[in-house]
Amino acid sequence: QKEETPLLADPPVKVVVRIRPANGQEREGDRLVRKVSEDSVTIGERKFTFDSVLDSKSNQEDVFQLVGVPLVKNALAGYNTSILAYGQTGSGKTYTMWGPQSAMVEAQATNTDQGIVPRIFQMLFSEIQREQDNSEGKQINYQCRCSFLEIKDDAKHGFYVENLTEEYVTSYEDITQVLIKGLSSRKLGATSMNAKSSRSHIVFSCVIDSWCKGASSKCFGSSKTSRISLVDLAGLERNKLDDDRQCAREEKNVKKSLSHLGHLVNTLAEGTQSGKPQEVSYRSSSLTHLLKESLGGNVKLAVICAISPDSKSSCETLSTLRFGQRVK
Ligand code: ADP
Ligand code: MG
Repeated sequence: QKEETPLLADPPVKVVVRIRPANGQEREGDRLVRKVSEDSVTIGERKFTFDSVLDSKSNQEDVFQLVGVPLVKNALAGYNTSILAYGQTGSGKTYTMWGPQSAMVEAQATNTDQGIVPRIFQMLFSEIQREQDNSEGKQINYQCRCSFLEIKDDAKHGFYVENLTEEYVTSYEDITQVLIKGLSSRKLGATSMNAKSSRSHIVFSCVIDSWCKGASSKCFGSSKTSRISLVDLAGLERNKLDDDRQCAREEKNVKKSLSHLGHLVNTLAEGTQSGKPQEVSYRSSSLTHLLKESLGGNVKLAVICAISPDSKSSCETLSTLRFGQRVK
């Protein structure tokens, strides 16, 4: 029996690092990137500390227990909750967030590759069912609508949104349909290290409205709205990085679009901690503007920084860890 997650002790912004296992072409043996304790990682001489570090032996269930379970509880308690996955191409963001599409339609008990997003919605719908079964006289209604969108950062067109769909969903099966449709039509294409990837952010969000039927006094204060946003951010493009100079240049480009986000998350966290809402400029970039509803109000945010164990990726890994440090 797992202990209940204390909601108040859960920080407004949680940063988790996941190191993916080495693939065939990589040398894990050189161990440049190491988990050195439950919450810290070293790359060469440098040490970074976060809320948690998951090493290459961690599985999808570990990520779900750490980030997904508290998210569902917070969402049902009325918080706006988000997960942002950040990291270079090929570092495991898509695997961590969605898992293989074939795994989505199966139950999590039978497919251990299933990502955190399908796990979250399985738990969400079973919690809703449980709440409805134990409602003790008050009838709570739930309504969920989900949308899947892709935000492209394109040199020619600037930021634009593609692929927007919004659908009412009543079951886990409905969610998987929306996800599979969205993921298969995205422009991102293959996700291997060498694949040419466009710079696009994938945002899946779900708004949950709950209200009590009837005028019973038990219903007082029981209507809630919360939004769950699951974001697979575009990161550094590995295929462009042949030398250190290019690495530095590329990092600068990515910083431009992501530093606003880092700053925004930071400001929000300070506001939540001090109890004073901060003035936040969502207009500083289209990305933050589009994420406004996910990051505003009563927020609980988890950032998953995905990193590769390979020494050839040290530039991108450092950049990812710095991003994680910045939002914390
Ligand atoms: P990204 O979305 O960051 O570009 P992917 O999630 O597509 O990266 O991962 C790249 C490859 O590595 C994929 O083939 C994926 O299945 C594999 N992979 C990533 N993380 C893990 C992991 N924790 N365990 C096993 N395989 C992984
Ligand atoms: Mg990906």
